[in-house]
Amino acid sequence: MKIGEVGEFGLIKKIRELFRAEGSVLGIGDDCAILPYGDKELLITTDTLVQGVHFFEGVEPYLLGRKSLAVNLSDIAAMAGKPKWAFLSLSLDIDRELSWIEQFLMGFRDIALEYDVSLLGGDTTSSDKLYISVTLVGENERGKSVKRNTARDGDIVLVTGSIGCSYAGFVALRDGLEGYDELKKRHLDPKPRFFEAFKVAPFATAMIDVSDGLIQDCLHICEESGVGMEIYWDKIPFCRAEFISKEEMLCGGEDYELVVCVKSCFKEKVESMDGFTVIGEVKKGGRIEVLRGGKVVKIKDCGYSHF
Ligand code: ADP
Ligand code: MG
Repeated sequence: MKIGEVGEFGLIKKIRELFRAEGSVLGIGDDCAILPYGDKELLITTDTLVQGVHFFEGVEPYLLGRKSLAVNLSDIAAMAGKPKWAFLSLSLDIDRELSWIEQFLMGFRDIALEYDVSLLGGDTTSSDKLYISVTLVGENERGKSVKRNTARDGDIVLVTGSIGCSYAGFVALRDGLEGYDELKKRHLDPKPRFFEAFKVAPFATAMIDVSDGLIQDCLHICEESGVGMEIYWDKIPFCRAEFISKEEMLCGGEDYELVVCVKSCFKEKVESMDGFTVIGEVKKGGRIEVLRGGKVVKIKDCGYSHF
């Protein structure tokens, strides 16, 4: 059997079965691992960007530098943690202009300063194409990190911001569409949702960031928590972009918004908070049903998987 047949998430499942998460509060399976750290806890996450997969050669190196840290910041935000320390590993093609990497580093440094993150180390090697791997460590008060395996039947499901703008921006860039600067920015320079995460964390039972696509990431909450969800199509805050379909917006990745589950007794409280939209409810069983006018919408092959 080929890796492609197992799929990205099938492979992660196999890896998870082989190792024990000894000494940790939480191992493989969430946005970050959690380690005990005195009266606090440490959050650790890592993400890799690969030339030709996550970005194309023409991308502005400054923005790529920002994005390579932003995607990791988003994983710390998804657990309502505070980012602290980063490690940056670069595999570089030796013919690359030095000015390119200098611009990249400027972008990385600027976003690190914005979020009070210190770069403490990394690794540098040569390679036929560019790989950027960032590990980010954050911290939280003990027991305060919001996980994805703790959603409960009856919780309401909320999402921050809008869904599909990053994918729309990607399509606009790929197809050389004029204008659409705001959408392109959503794809090239995503903003981690710390403000919203801290605001909602006291009421949240579970949280995840939308990196693989809204439906796929809701499914991650469902699988880890052993629950299902009903999502109401008409409530989803779709991006205003006329050149891609709503199905594509649901399945395209890299929104870096947050999906949050909240106990139903806090419904009014969180509905009144700016920046959140109620999109559904947690149900028993392991399935997600997207409902449009009472009918189930069929969504096939939805979300990003690397294989
Ligand atoms: P996210 O989209 O939040 O960054 P991923 O989908 O990349 O998370 O990964 C899901 C979970 O699987 C995470 O907990 C991650 O740490 C873990 N994981 C992914 N790849 C590996 C691997 N090669 N070895 C161990 N754990 C992995
Ligand atoms: Mg994540």
